[in-house]
Parts: sequence; structure tokens; C-alpha cells
Amino acid sequence: LERIRLVILGGPKVGKSAIVKRFLFGSFMEKYKPTVEELYSKEYDFHRITLKVDILDTAGDLQFPAMRRLSIATAHAFLLVYAIDDVSSFETVKGCFKEIQEQRADFQEVPIVVAGNKMDVELTSVEVEFDDVSDWLSTHLPTLKTKIMECSAKRDANVREVFRSFINLSKIP
Ligand code: GDP
Ligand code: MG
Repeated sequence: LERIRLVILGGPKVGKSAIVKRFLFGSFMEKYKPTVEELYSKEYDFHRITLKVDILDTAGDLQFPAMRRLSIATAHAFLLVYAIDDVSSFETVKGCFKEIQEQRADFQEVPIVVAGNKMDVELTSVEVEFDDVSDWLSTHLPTLKTKIMECSAKRDANVREVFRSFINLSKIP
């Protein structure tokens, strides 16, 4: 049984917890409830291999730097979440990427999925274009094991795909 530790990082209120809850429990809450740190576990059957994925949902701010350093140090894979209606949350994701890059010598081999959540919002509220995220990722951080996706925890759009893609990335030798 292979075990993968996935750590979710990103700014506050972007929907990190909502993505996890949609994925694991099929539920969604409008009301905001701050997270300190939650650990979930899920088993997958993946091409005849059973994978155990531990999902660490974090607070998403800089209030707990020691926890953050530890979560970065122990992760096998990262899910970095921004909200497409919040440009500052994309800046936060860039910062997270930088932190991972600085802290992890094996940076090039670590699967990283960047997810733009809240793709359900009105077009006029959109502050982050997919192409800008894509350009940033391709110029600054060329690694094999990265992927960008937009999703909506609220509408249940692309949430499974986010988790599936990171599992696919983990399987790249
Ligand atoms: P976290 O701080 O990143 O864990 O964010 P939460 O999961 O707690 O969500 C923050 C707020 O955004 C909550 O009020 C959620 O209801 C809302 N939210 C989360 N995901 C979505 C989404 O996909 N679309 C929209 N419109 N709102 C969302
Ligand atoms: Mg949360």
C-alpha cells in the first residue's frame, strides 16, 4: 500500500476546505468556517494499485509559520489553491510556490497542482485569467510535475479531476 501525503496551501477563503469537503463528502457550505489544520485520509484503487492519500488542509495564512514549514517539509505533493475572483490569492500561491522551491531540494520531482477555485463566479468578478497563471507557471517554474486547473467546489466542477491529476502526476517516474 502506497501512501501519499498531499498538502493544501493557499490564501484564506479561497475554498481549500470546500474543495476537500466536496471531494470527500460531496457537500458544500456557504458559511465560512476558518480551518486550523485538518488531516483526512482516503484510499484509491488506481490501475490495480491501492493508494492511500492523506490530505492535509491548512489554515492558509501566515499565522502558523512553524506548522507551515513542517507541512511543506513532509509533503509528497501539493495542491495550491487560489480563487479566480481574488487576484491577491494568486499572489499568495506564487509565494507558496517560492516557499516550496526554497525549502525542498527535490522541488523538481514534487507534484504540484495549482487550482483556480470559484470558477462559478460571474464573469465580471473574475480577476485571475487562466492564461496568466499558465504563463507564470511555464516561465518561472518549469517542472514536469505541475498542472493548472480551474474548479468549483460550489458547483462540483472539476474537483475530482483536480485530485485525479495530482495522483497522475505522482505516478510519473
Ligand atoms: P478556505 O479558507 O480556503 O478553506 O476556504 P473555505 O473552504 O472555508 O471557503 C471560503 C468561502 O468561500 C466560504 O464561504 C465558501 O462557501 C466559499 N466557497 C468555497 N468554494 C467556493 C466555490 O467554488 N465557489 C464559490 N462561489 N464560493 C466558494
Ligand atoms: Mg479552510
